[in-house]
Amino acid sequence: MIHIAIIGSGPAGYYTAEAAQKAFGETARIDIIDRLPTPFGLIRSGVAPDHQSLKAVARRYEKTALTEEVRFVGNVPIGDDGVTIAELQDIYDAVVLATGAPHDRKLGIPGDDLPGAFGSAAFVGWYNGHPDFVAAQPPLDHSTAVVIGNGNVAIDCARILAKTSDELASSDIAAHAAEALGTSRITHIHIVGRRGPHQVSFTPKELGEMGRLERAAAVADPAAFPPETEDEALDPGQRKVVGFLREFAGNAADKPVTVSFDFFTRPVAIEGDLAVEGIEVERTRLTDDGRAEGTGEMRTIPCGLVISAIGYRTSPIAGVPYDEGRGRFVNEEGRIAPGLYCVGWARRGPTGTIGTNKPDGYAIAELLQSDLSDTGKPGRAGLDALIEERGLQAVRFTDWQKIDAAEVARARVGAPREKFVHVEEMIAAATTP
Ligand SMILES: Cc1cc2nc3c(=O)[nH]c(=O)nc-3n(C[C@H](O)[C@H](O)[C@H](O)COP(=O)(O)OP(=O)(O)OC[C@H]3O[C@@H](n4cnc5c(N)ncnc54)[C@H](O)[C@@H]3O)c2cc1C
Repeated sequence: MIHIAIIGSGPAGYYTAEAAQKAFGETARIDIIDRLPTPFGLIRSGVAPDHQSLKAVARRYEKTALTEEVRFVGNVPIGDDGVTIAELQDIYDAVVLATGAPHDRKLGIPGDDLPGAFGSAAFVGWYNGHPDFVAAQPPLDHSTAVVIGNGNVAIDCARILAKTSDELASSDIAAHAAEALGTSRITHIHIVGRRGPHQVSFTPKELGEMGRLERAAAVADPAAFPPETEDEALDPGQRKVVGFLREFAGNAADKPVTVSFDFFTRPVAIEGDLAVEGIEVERTRLTDDGRAEGTGEMRTIPCGLVISAIGYRTSPIAGVPYDEGRGRFVNEEGRIAPGLYCVGWARRGPTGTIGTNKPDGYAIAELLQSDLSDTGKPGRAGLDALIEERGLQAVRFTDWQKIDAAEVARARVGAPREKFVHVEEMIAAATTP
């Protein structure tokens, strides 16, 4: 028997398990280990709560999870605070790190650690009920919030700030966030990007939605746009994106909330004594090779909340080579060392969609098939012994199904579920007879 441990139950973990299960059939046992009692990684805690249809992909993972060969072992952290990689390598023929990239890339400007300055991981984790970020309490009592970044995560953050309680009613936003946002006084949201409309990383669907919000008008400065004829050189998706931005440039700020796309603007310093009071930004221009360079023209946007959505980094794990520059594990096509692999965001960094992790997972399964042979390691029995020895309380997939059912049962009217946001509550739901 071949024994495989996959660390992380997000899309990369599940696609790898699916592919390995197909490749090895009954000759392998695959454990998917997660530090949380709930599976599916960013499907649960990243993907926006008002984009429920995207979360349906978890049904596919459920099929894999319920096969004889695959086991979910939740509530077991891997690393210094739980079971170590070296211990897992003694037990399993292969250890695959599918731990994602849960840490924000820092802005690296003065004031970026002031209260009121958030990374998107914390802000998104807060509204999605991730146990690590429940206590975040982003300040919503100032009229202005600034979101830094020109990708879909910035759009998600701005949209959640801009929507009405009614617009969020059918989402699974965490109750504490729904309540706080319901009394938000934010009326101006700036989405700040260093470069221009042709350089954004938004996708058409997500950006288009910004133009259809009930109480928020999306606006942009027409002067930031190149001549329309230059749009023809863009690929069709990007042309659509720029088309939406041009529409916004023609909009009036005629709704209670304004979402303004501030192009050619880079953050210089976050200002404030005890908490964020504003952000100093510099006007930029494009260099010939497409970079943004400062022009020296400064202004301050008074605000109470700054959210930086400029990328993520993988958490280092003791004993695993880590690329500080890129913020991910050092690997060659997924191989880190004999018997140690990585996949998904932990392998390639925080890019691509949920679906991008599928070919990634299948490629790792192919490597496993060519690299592994039965060496008589103990696999599951070895992990169970370690869990017992450490006094950890592992959660199985059937336990998760109980948590899931309890969340659905206590949903607000019109909402798909009311998430438990504390690990203790999840364990209580899992262990209720
Ligand atoms: C805010 C946001 C919104 C997004 N929205 C979309 C969208 O709308 N559509 C789309 O296609 N894609 C979206 N994505 C991208 C998508 O979520 C990612 O492509 C995908 O989740 C990456 O998968 P992963 O398995 O590599 O990592 P993750 O999904 O992050 O999974 C990692 C898992 O590893 C676990 N873990 C981490 N460290 C340890 C440890 N030490 N021990 C044990 N377990 C550990 C975590 O608990 C987690 O379950 C979004 C991403 C973000 C951040």
